[in-house]
Amino acid sequence: MADAKVTKLFDEHEIAGRVEEIAGAAVDRLSRDFLIVGLLVGSFVFVADFIRALHRIGCTPSVEFMRLSSYGHGKESSGTVRLIGETKLDLSGRAVLLVDDIVDTGRTLLYARDLFREKKASSVLTCALIDKPSCRKVAIDPDFVGFTVPDVFIVGYGIDYAHQYRQLPFIGMID
Ligand code: 5GP
Ligand code: MG
Repeated sequence: MADAKVTKLFDEHEIAGRVEEIAGAAVDRLSRDFLIVGLLVGSFVFVADFIRALHRIGCTPSVEFMRLSSYGHGKESSGTVRLIGETKLDLSGRAVLLVDDIVDTGRTLLYARDLFREKKASSVLTCALIDKPSCRKVAIDPDFVGFTVPDVFIVGYGIDYAHQYRQLPFIGMID
């Protein structure tokens, strides 16, 4: 798999442009100092760029991460979302922007959004770098989306396949 072929879909320049655009859209719907909760591991590069784009337009978000899992080592979702380690995050009364790398079936985003509502966040908006709407199995669509793609397997820009490819500066698909 380390030598699987990766086809570039979005280069660094395109990603940077979209990140700025999403930041602008998010600011229009959130107060200056909301809380970003990124889902590990895949969103870490996106969150890192996103918070700096937000800074450039005057936002002062707090940033936290949480780890969920629905994928094993393969390319297919297990269909069950688990929280790995309870989060101690106090979300009570907070305006939260939940950030994930990819929305596929939608189960992860739905699970996290419901969890944040249970934790009494005052609002929960959702943001995904990549959306695969044709793969949806549950009714949820992210409020902000970087790129919409068909049913392909994405790697790069923080997103892995069996622990590889996170370091790629571009977003690609694997065959
Ligand atoms: P969902 O719960 O929506 O089915 O899946 C969401 C999670 O599955 C994403 O956060 C991501 O970690 C993983 N995932 C979904 N599609 C892909 C993909 O194309 N490539 C990789 N590497 N992970 C994916
Ligand atoms: Mg994920």
